[in-house]
Amino acid sequence: MSCEYCECPTYISVAKLSFYPSNYLFSMTTPLSSAPEPASAEASESASALPSILELSRDKLTSTIIEMGEKKFRASQLWRSLYNETAKSFDDMSTLSKPFRKSLSESYSISPLEEVMYLTSADNSTSKSLYRLHDGELIESVLMRYETDGHRRNRKTACISTQAGCALGCTFCATGQQGFRRNLTVGEIVAQVIELQRIAIEEDKAQIAEGKRTKGELQGVTNVVFMGMGEPLANYNNVMAAILVLNDGQGLNIGARHITLSTVGLVPQILKLADEELQINLAISLHAPDNATRSQTMPVNKRYPVEELIRACHKYANKTKRRIFFEYVLLKDQNDSIEQAQKLGRLLNSLHCHVNLIPVNPTNDGLFDRTDLRAAKDFQGGLKQYGIPSTVRMEKGIDINAGCGQLRERAIDILGA
Ligand code: SAH
Ligand code: SF4
Repeated sequence: MSCEYCECPTYISVAKLSFYPSNYLFSMTTPLSSAPEPASAEASESASALPSILELSRDKLTSTIIEMGEKKFRASQLWRSLYNETAKSFDDMSTLSKPFRKSLSESYSISPLEEVMYLTSADNSTSKSLYRLHDGELIESVLMRYETDGHRRNRKTACISTQAGCALGCTFCATGQQGFRRNLTVGEIVAQVIELQRIAIEEDKAQIAEGKRTKGELQGVTNVVFMGMGEPLANYNNVMAAILVLNDGQGLNIGARHITLSTVGLVPQILKLADEELQINLAISLHAPDNATRSQTMPVNKRYPVEELIRACHKYANKTKRRIFFEYVLLKDQNDSIEQAQKLGRLLNSLHCHVNLIPVNPTNDGLFDRTDLRAAKDFQGGLKQYGIPSTVRMEKGIDINAGCGQLRERAIDILGA
C-alpha cells in the first residue's frame, strides 16, 4: 500500500481510515510497517540502534556510570532526568556535563518505543498510542483521564502492555486472538509510562497556564494498570522489576497502591506474588462463575480451574490482607444471567473483594455482543444479594478501539497483513 501524498510505500493511506468515526482526533506519527532503507550512513546510526538505557536497573546504572569514570551521585542525577523529568534526549540533561552526555549518547538510546499512531476519543477522556519496538513488534498503551467525582481527586491512569501478543487465547480478547509474539523488556514496559507521563504533564502545564489548576497540582500520571496487551504474570520478573522502577520516589513515584496488576489467573504466580510484600492491587480476570462457562471463553481454565483459582485468591488475601478485584467481562447470553450472578455471589462470598462488571468491547470477529446497562445493573443486583460489592464500568474510548489489543488489530487490518 502506498501513501497518497508521496511515493513512500509504508504509510497507511488516510483514506483507508474512513471506517473510524469522524469525531475523533487521529495522528499517524511514523510509518507503520518496516521503515525504508536509510538514505545515508548517518541515518543508519539512529539512536534506536543503541540499547535503551531504560533497561538498566538503578544498581546497574550506578555501576555503569562509575565504570565510565563518573562519580556515584551522577547516577541519581541521571535517574532523575530519565524518570522524573522524563528527558527525551541526553542533551536535555543540563545537570550532567557535556562530555558525559556525549559518552552516554554514544552508548545508549533513551526510549525503546517509536510511536506510530496516537488517537484521542471524541470526549477527550482517552488517548491510545500504538508503538513499534526495535524488532517491528507493535504494542499499545492507553491514557485514561478521570474527572474528580467528589470522593476522589481527578486522576490519569496509564494502561500498559507487558507482552507483544498473548498466549492465553481468551476468545473475547483481541490480543488473545493475535497469538503470542514475545515478552516485553523492563525498559519497554516502563517506557510506556514515561511516554504517557510526558503527555499528562504537558496537559497539566497547559491547564496551569489557563488558570484551571494551581502549580502545586502538576500531577502527571497518577495510576498505572497492567491491563494492556499480554499476561503480566507470564512475564513475571520483568514486570516485578518494572514495578520497582515505577515506584521509585526519585523517579515516576507511582505509589504501589496506585498500581494494579490484572491476571488471567496463573495460580503459581499469584501465590509467588503474595510473598513479594508489595502493596499493589491485584485484579483477577474471572469472567464466569463456574468451570463449564469459563472454559468456553478462557482456555487457561482447563489448567487452573475456578476452585483452584479461588483457593489461591483466599491465600493471597490472607497473606497480604489486601482486597482482591475481580474483573467480569459481561458477554451477552454467555455469562450475564441473574443465576450466574448469584452463583458468582456464592463463589466469592467469604472473600474480601470487589467485582468490576465490564460490558464487553466487541472485537473484529464479533463473537460476543455487549450486555446492556440495564442487564448489567440486574447482574449487579444478583451479586448484592450475597453482599458482594461491584461497579458497572462502561469502557472508556470505545470509539478509538481502546480495548486490549484492538488498536493493533485495526492497524493490521488496514495494512492487510
Ligand atoms: N492478561 C491480563 C491483563 C490484560 S487484559 C488479564 O487477562 O487479566 C486486561 C483486561 O481486559 C482483562 O480483564 C481482560 O479480560 C479484559 N478484556 C480483554 N478483552 C476485552 C474486551 N473485548 N472487552 C472488555 N474487556 C476485555
Ligand atoms: Fe491474554 Fe488477558 Fe487477553 Fe486473555 S484477556 S488473551 S490473558 S491479554
